[in-house]
Amino acid sequence: MTQSIASRIAKLNPRQQEAVRAIDGPCLVLAGAGSGKTSVITTKIAYLVQECGMSARRIAAVTFTNKAAREMKERVGKMLQGRQGHGLTVSTFHTLGLNIIRGELKALGYKPGFSLFDPEDAKALLRDLMNKDAQVDAEAINQVQATISNWKNDLVLPGQALSHAASEDELFAARVYEAYGRHLKAYNAVDFDDLILLPVTLLRDDPEALSRWRKRIHYMLVDEYQDTNVSQYQLVQLLMAERQTFTVVGDDDQSIYAWRGARPENLVTLGEDFPRLNVIKLEQNYRSTGTILRAANTLIANNPHVYEKTLWSDMGQGAAIRVVVNRHEEAEAERVASEILTRRIKERAEWRDFAVLYRGNFQARLLELKLQHYQIPYKLSGGTSFFSRNEIKDAMAYLRLLINPADDSAFLRIVNVPRREIGPTTLEKLANYATERGGSLFAACQELGLAEQLPVRAVERLGRFTHFIEGVRRRMDQGDAISAIREMLRDMDYEAWLYQNASAPTIAERRMANVWTLIDQLEKSMGADPEEEAASTTTETDGVEAAISRLVLRDILEQQAEEDDSDRVQLLTMHASKGLEFPHVYLMGLEEELLPHRNAIEVGTVEEERRLAYVGITRARRTLTMTLARQRKAYGELMDCTPSRFLDELPEDALEWEGRPDREDPEKKQARGKDALAGIRSLLG
Ligand code: ATP
Ligand code: MG
Repeated sequence: MTQSIASRIAKLNPRQQEAVRAIDGPCLVLAGAGSGKTSVITTKIAYLVQECGMSARRIAAVTFTNKAAREMKERVGKMLQGRQGHGLTVSTFHTLGLNIIRGELKALGYKPGFSLFDPEDAKALLRDLMNKDAQVDAEAINQVQATISNWKNDLVLPGQALSHAASEDELFAARVYEAYGRHLKAYNAVDFDDLILLPVTLLRDDPEALSRWRKRIHYMLVDEYQDTNVSQYQLVQLLMAERQTFTVVGDDDQSIYAWRGARPENLVTLGEDFPRLNVIKLEQNYRSTGTILRAANTLIANNPHVYEKTLWSDMGQGAAIRVVVNRHEEAEAERVASEILTRRIKERAEWRDFAVLYRGNFQARLLELKLQHYQIPYKLSGGTSFFSRNEIKDAMAYLRLLINPADDSAFLRIVNVPRREIGPTTLEKLANYATERGGSLFAACQELGLAEQLPVRAVERLGRFTHFIEGVRRRMDQGDAISAIREMLRDMDYEAWLYQNASAPTIAERRMANVWTLIDQLEKSMGADPEEEAASTTTETDGVEAAISRLVLRDILEQQAEEDDSDRVQLLTMHASKGLEFPHVYLMGLEEELLPHRNAIEVGTVEEERRLAYVGITRARRTLTMTLARQRKAYGELMDCTPSRFLDELPEDALEWEGRPDREDPEKKQARGKDALAGIRSLLG
C-alpha cells in the first residue's frame, strides 16, 4: 500500500513532491492552469492517510463546483483502498457548511428537519416581505436579493447593515434583510449563503462549537482558492488558525467569481494571516499542447499580475487553434455539431472527449437541437436542458395533442395551461368517466353523458378547450400547418401566461423565445426526412405530424440519456468548466458583448472576462476551436456582431482562420459594436 503512494509521489515533479510532503504548516500552491494543483491535493490526501497515518475522518477537502468535487472524489478513491477513505470529506464549501449546520442545530437554535431554501424560494419570501407596504417590481426584488447575498458573503449581519446603510435604498434593503432573517428562522429554514455564514458566525461566537470542529478536522485542503469569498475564507481561518495545517491551491488568473463575492486578494491576505506560509510555485503544464498554452499565456499577459508565473509544456506544439467565423448563430451551432460528428471518427475519439464551452446557457439552445438532429449524445451541465424546460414541455404537449388527441398525459399537462379554470376535481371526474367509456380524456369531453357527471360550467370549459384544439387542427389540415400552430400560441396568449408566472419580465421573454425556437425548428425539420421528400404525395399535415413525432422521440431519447453516465459530448458554461480538462474543446461565441460580456464592458470588468477566456482555453488538451457568428438573432431580428477583442490578443501565428472578416478600422469596429449591443442585450440575462 505504502508503495503505491510512494510510486505515485515519485511520478510528480520535485516542486509538486515538496507540496505533497509539506504537512506541518500552512502551504499555498500558486500556479497556472494544468500545472497539477488538483493532482497535488488528491495525492496529498492519499499521502496523509497512507503515509502519515491520519484518519480520513480528520481530513476535509473542499472545492467549488459539484462537478469538481465529484471528480476529485473519484481521483482520491482510486488511490485509497478499502475502508481507508471512510469518513473523508471531499465536497463543495456549501456541503461542508451544511454538514456543520446539521451537527450544530442545537447551538444554532434550529430544529431538526430544517429546510434549505433555493434562490426561488428565497425570492418568494422576499416578494412577500417587500410587497407588504407597497407593490414592488421583480427587478427591485432581485436587487435586494443580490444585496443581501453580498452582505452574507461579506459576513455583514442585519444589525451592521442597518447601522452602516449609506443610502435610502440600502436602509430599505437592510430592513428587508432583518425581516428576512427572522422569517427564515421562524420557518426553520436557511438559504444558500447561510450555509457558510451560519457556520462562520457560530464558530466565531461559540468557543465550544469551535473546539468541537477543530477536533474533528485536523487537515484542510482547498482547491480553486482564488475564488473563495470573505465568509469562506473565514471558515478556513477559524478551523485552521490553531493547527495551521492546511494546503490551499489556486491561480489568480482563474479568478472568475468576483461577481459572487470572490476575493482573489485572499491569496495575499493568507500570507499576512499565516506568516509561516510556505508558498510553492509550479511551472510545468501537463495538460495542453505548446500552441494552446502559448495562446493562453499571451492572452492573460494583458492583465495586471500580483504574482508572475511562467508556464511551459513539453507536450509538443500540436495543431494550430482554429477560429471559425460563421454566417449566423445557427450556422455556428450546425458547424460545431457536424464537425464533432465527423471528427469523432477521424480522430478516433469518443463523444466524451469533446466539450463545448460557452458564456451563457442560452447559447446551448440551438446547439442542443443540432446535436439531436445528428443523434449525437450529449450532457448539458448546469442550466436546464432545452427539452426539460417547462415552456418547451408545454409546447410539446400541445403539439402532441394536436397530432394525437388521445394523448392523455399531454392533455393533462396543458388543459389548464394557460389557466382555463379547470380544476383537479373536474379532471378527476372526467378521468373516471373516460375510463368507464374506455376512451381518451379528449374524447370524453365531447360525450353528451358527461353533463350528468359534471356541473354545466365545467362541461362548457372543457368543451371550449377541445373546440379550440380542433379548430387549430382544422386550420392545420386546410393550409399552412406551422402558421396554424403559431396562431394557436398567440390566440391563447401563452406569452401573457409566461409573464404572469415569471419572477422577471426578462425570464418570460426568454421562455417565449425558446418556444418560438422550437416552432422554427419544427418548420425546418418538416420534409427534412429524405424518405418523406421522396414520397411526393405527402400533405402538409403528414409533414408536420412526422416532424412532431421526430421531436417527441428526441425528447424521449434525451430523457433516457439523462439517466446513465455514458459516453457523451459535454456542454457547459466556461464558469462550470473550471478545473476540468478535455482532449478537444470548442469555445463558442467569441464576440464582443458576449465574451467579453456586455455588462463587463459597461462596468469595466473586462479583466475578469479575460480570465474566463483563459479558463476556457486552458481546458483543452490537444485541440482548440473557437467559433463566432457574424450575425445573431435578437428580438427576432438579425444583429451584426463584432469579433471578440480577445481574438486580437492571441498570437497571430497560433491561429488558423476560416472565413475571417475583413480587417476594419477600429472606429468602424466600435460603431458596429454599439449596434450589436442593443440587439444582444435582450439575449443576455
Ligand atoms: P487547473 O488550474 O485547470 O485546475 P490543475 O493545476 O489543477 O489545473 P491538474 O488538473 O491537477 O492541474 O493536472 C492537469 C493534468 O496534468 C492532469 O491530467 C494530471 O493528471 C496531469 N499531471 C499533473 N501532474 C503531473 C505530473 N507530474 N506528471 C504527469 N502528468 C501530470
Ligand atoms: Mg485544478
